[in-house]
Amino acid sequence: MAGEEIDLRPISHITIDAIGQPGKRIFYLQGWQGTRNVTLIVEKIQVQSLAVGLDQFMTEVLQQFPELTEVDDGYIEDQMRIQPPVDPLFRVGELGLGYDAENDLVVLVAREVVAEDQDPGQAKAVRFWCSRSQVRALCRWGMQVAAQGRPICPQCGEPMDPEGHFCPKKNGHKH
Ligand SMILES: [Zn+2]
Repeated sequence: MAGEEIDLRPISHITIDAIGQPGKRIFYLQGWQGTRNVTLIVEKIQVQSLAVGLDQFMTEVLQQFPELTEVDDGYIEDQMRIQPPVDPLFRVGELGLGYDAENDLVVLVAREVVAEDQDPGQAKAVRFWCSRSQVRALCRWGMQVAAQGRPICPQCGEPMDPEGHFCPKKNGHKH
């Protein structure tokens, strides 16, 4: 028996956001279908590779379907902030992309991370069916969210925590 699968088709809104102090932020992927919301936990690296992957994917879609027109990537920052309830369904293991040309929808498939002792067939999955402009906005916003990290230490080039950091260039002294 396969794990639970959820289809939000189409979504009314999708976003990525981070909650917490710099360096300890938790990243979320959140999709809405009307008042129904699905929130998933993602890693920062997944946000970065998703933003890059979506950008490449959209370029490929336009090459494959040259009759499509380019879409707007505009968004309103307030609307891209995560909304309650933030009740994550699962932690994402892998993300996949697909395109439904007939309906001009991009599907973002998120699969649950599978523990070693867990049957991969039991992993939950969520499919977010997005318009191309929702994807463009998610891509641009996601890059911005991922980049809003900790400031970089001018001494060693490592990210600094707000309370300072133990700098290897200063023999571990805080600065
Ligand atoms: Zn340093």
